[in-house]
Amino acid sequence: MADITAPAYRIIPIIPALKPGAMAGKGPFVASDKLNEAIGFPGKLVEDWHDRGIAKMGELLSKYRSLKVYMDACVHCGACSDKCHYFIGTQDPKNMPVARQDLMRSVYRRYFTLPGKWFPKLVGARDLTREVLDEWYNYFYQCSECRRCSVFCPYGIDTAEITMAAREILDSVGYGQKYSNEIIGKVHKIGNNLGLPGPALRDTLEGLEEDVKEATGIDVRFPMDVKGAEVLLITPSADFFAEPHIDSLIGYAKVFHATGTSWTLSSMASEAGNFGMFIGNYDQLRKIALRIRETALELGVRRIVVGECGHAWRVAYSFWNTLNGVGEGASEVDRFAQMLQKQLDHRYKQPMHICEFTWDMIGRKALTFDKSKNDKHIITFHDSCNVARGSRMGDLPGGQFEIPRNIIKAVANNFVEMSPNTTREQTFCCGGGGGLLTDDLLELRVKGALPRMEVLNQVVEEHGVNFMATICAICKAQFTKIMPIYGFDRRMVGGVHQLVSNAIELGEKK
Ligand code: SF4
Ligand code: SF4
Repeated sequence: MADITAPAYRIIPIIPALKPGAMAGKGPFVASDKLNEAIGFPGKLVEDWHDRGIAKMGELLSKYRSLKVYMDACVHCGACSDKCHYFIGTQDPKNMPVARQDLMRSVYRRYFTLPGKWFPKLVGARDLTREVLDEWYNYFYQCSECRRCSVFCPYGIDTAEITMAAREILDSVGYGQKYSNEIIGKVHKIGNNLGLPGPALRDTLEGLEEDVKEATGIDVRFPMDVKGAEVLLITPSADFFAEPHIDSLIGYAKVFHATGTSWTLSSMASEAGNFGMFIGNYDQLRKIALRIRETALELGVRRIVVGECGHAWRVAYSFWNTLNGVGEGASEVDRFAQMLQKQLDHRYKQPMHICEFTWDMIGRKALTFDKSKNDKHIITFHDSCNVARGSRMGDLPGGQFEIPRNIIKAVANNFVEMSPNTTREQTFCCGGGGGLLTDDLLELRVKGALPRMEVLNQVVEEHGVNFMATICAICKAQFTKIMPIYGFDRRMVGGVHQLVSNAIELGEKK
């Protein structure tokens, strides 16, 4: 870490000069045999990786029509090329979204199109060689699947989906990423990304009850595995112990306490995150999501609320209905999905984001705040990619942008927006999403954070912003790690419910 320095801020954010090969060979650590096999993938690169890889690609092309369209539709207009934070920060031309796509497109052309079979050189088609496979591993693990580039593509080509397909092919031939596969293994075995067993969680929650009692004089509960609770809270495991995440967990608990809502956490479904999406593997995605259904059925809860985690909310909002039966469109032939549908209270959104819950309670005047408690903060809001470009909240278009901002404005007096071409659907990734939040990618993470840091710096200098709120566990972890490298205080980052926690009125301190 000592030799990783932040790139200089650009005076005018123009397209950076190219540095070919700048990030060659700087991909993440490869998973060991043990990690791959633990989640059902070949332990190491199989001997017939070429044939298996091409067969897998064919399977994905026939299964996902969108992938085939993305392979065929690009006209190389270049509109996406300067929209990726990793290209901006690293200047490696292979981190341009179109170049990243072409890593796969060139192989697609060679094996799945007639011109590519007959005249490969004329159409930029390439054989899948070991060198190409290594290049895939290197650069598809330098994409955070943030989808910013797709906002600017006239054809709506989604590079994230191409990255997911590439990672799925890589896993299928035994070329998995250490960080993601290790985390998936922990969820299957223990129930959460951090590998925290039930007793450790229970201890942490008891400690939090004591801390909150000491600070407020109020008995705010952090219940676990309570049968018959109204709400099951599914939250990222980082909320249980990492800073500043834990302050948001305290905020959720205070909201449930203040509104008299019976709620519970679960020792079995103690993780909102779902890295199955990052590696593009449906079976892993579903298996992880099913823990939540199993828990919900066992506890008999009537509502499922999701804590501050960007990709978890995308998975919940966009995919849970078909993965585990939470949400409209749940399978009619899946007996357990139907059982859960009958059990859930459909007067409420299923699933519901904690911001939707809190905003709804604010609307019902069930919460009161002393906004002055946040007066030490001049706050801005960082939209997280998967919330901004992969989900919604509330009943109106753009609710995923407005609801968190509305909550901040309800609990604090000082709010400032960052530049509009870097917020809402055009938000920049924090630099650590999509399975890249690992120290073996620290250089990429630091460089990929450049666009967000540049814009944060503007509001710091112009408005004295000293707090950047966000509703994503990965953003919080990434920013607290890389912001000191840019000269910012790591405590500048926190959750929306951290601000709620500061200002919420629970009663008189005894
Ligand atoms: S999805 Fe995000 S990280 Fe990936 S190429 Fe597009 S802008 Fe870059
Ligand atoms: S913006 Fe779309 S069509 Fe243009 S180069 Fe990028 S992916 Fe291709």
